[in-house]
Amino acid sequence: MKEYQMFIGGQFVAAASGQTFQSVEPWTEEAWAAVPRGGVEDVNAAVQAAHAALSGPWSGYSASARGALLRRLADLLVKAAPRLAEIEVRDNGKLLTEMRAQTGYLPEIYYYYAGLADKIEGSVPPVGRPGVFGYTRYEPIGVVAAITPWNSPLLLAAAKIAPALAAGCTIIHKPSEHSSASALEFARLVQEAGFPEGVFNVITGFGAEAGDPLVRHPKVARISFTGGTQAGRAINQIAAARFARCDLELGGKSPNIVFDDADLEAAANGVISGIFAASGQSCIAGSRLLVQENIHDEFVERLLAIAKTAVVGDPTDERTQIGPVTTQDQFEKVLAYIAIARGEGAQCVLGGERIDRKGWFVQPTIFTDVNNQMRIAREEVFGPILSVIRFKDEADALQIANDSDFGLAAGVWTQDFGRAFRMSEKLAAGTVWINSYRMLSVTMPFGGVKDSGAGRENGMDAIMANLEAKSIFLNHSAPVANPFVMKL
Ligand code: NAD
Repeated sequence: MKEYQMFIGGQFVAAASGQTFQSVEPWTEEAWAAVPRGGVEDVNAAVQAAHAALSGPWSGYSASARGALLRRLADLLVKAAPRLAEIEVRDNGKLLTEMRAQTGYLPEIYYYYAGLADKIEGSVPPVGRPGVFGYTRYEPIGVVAAITPWNSPLLLAAAKIAPALAAGCTIIHKPSEHSSASALEFARLVQEAGFPEGVFNVITGFGAEAGDPLVRHPKVARISFTGGTQAGRAINQIAAARFARCDLELGGKSPNIVFDDADLEAAANGVISGIFAASGQSCIAGSRLLVQENIHDEFVERLLAIAKTAVVGDPTDERTQIGPVTTQDQFEKVLAYIAIARGEGAQCVLGGERIDRKGWFVQPTIFTDVNNQMRIAREEVFGPILSVIRFKDEADALQIANDSDFGLAAGVWTQDFGRAFRMSEKLAAGTVWINSYRMLSVTMPFGGVKDSGAGRENGMDAIMANLEAKSIFLNHSAPVANPFVMKL
């Protein structure tokens, strides 16, 4: 059994309590790693280290020097990526091929923000007052808590860590209790790159024991959270009570909309990749398929033809196309939703059962005759379950698509350019894909509306989220005026 330690103030340490918990391989159900079970004492130590680092050597790094360190970290990630992918698979059971693609993209994220570190510029606005010079500067907000889920561990963490470091902040990363190992391996690379002590820290443990005290800590200036809507809502309330900045990347129930003029072969592949890739354990899963009624039957046949041939099995085998779900809880939740869908009258045309083998495997499952009011159409399942809903025309598709508590992403399949633009403007979602699905780029803002969250990651916006603007008025020759009247 591999034994890990947390990373606090530049040191690898055990939890103050001495306790650990186990990480379990989802396809063998066997524990492979022991991880420290962090608590409030460890959180306090990490926040103290991160807070002290703000005024330590880190504050003397120029923006270009921060960029150089990030580049060094990215260089190390290039070499480490294949090994990190293998570690992530052991924790979350997603396909090795998928995790290789994710860890292979990490250097690009760190290189991107390395390049942006010294492009953070204040401005010289016209203050409209003779003899007064006004300028703005952007200062790091302080200690940032980066809390992440298990489905794409280092990828989602990078979207928080890279821009915060570029901005000059210090960080405490709290990975999911189901995928802590890669965060701790990553901490070794941060150490090797030469970041000063305390700039980056990792606390492992459970949400209630390690996440909650981090969110409540008065010295944490910003919380950047990716996870479920329920935890996001609780965290947002705690942050609001002490006016901490809080950005939330939450769940989804994204519509993938197929019009009768679409390239149906491409659309069918896009729909399959939208729901069965990662066994549906993706915030952007296209879990609601909206199909125009005149092509419904033909399109469902196309989906079945592809999905029936999918190879389900060991995620480390490169031929596998669908792996297990990550945790036993998740496995039971997915099976419960299958029962709910059946009870609501949806027709199961594919799958609908667990797979009779060791590990938390659920058959790829398709339900037709779903209407948008059913729970299977409204609630996030986070598993390989596709709900198919019919629509009449563009207005009907839009109404159904936007009738959701969530608003993370949407797909539109059509060859009509005008329709593509109209739909992309009117869909209530942070990301819209036209004739594609599940495509991301560090340069493109990412986030949701409604219960899918608040704030955006990626791009320059993600750096700005870690900065406070300061306005400086410099009176070089304005005359002294009436002291009892405010100068406007
Ligand atoms: P989760 O909300 O249970 O946990 C996410 C993280 O928050 C974990 O590290 C957990 O320990 C921590 N946590 C939980 N409760 C907390 C609390 N009260 N205070 C502080 N920390 C707490 O989510 P999960 O099951 O790990 O991940 C699945 C969810 O994440 C899905 O809903 C999915 O849609 C969402 N997700 C969203 C995005 C996005 O970018 N929008 C990306 C991936 C996953």
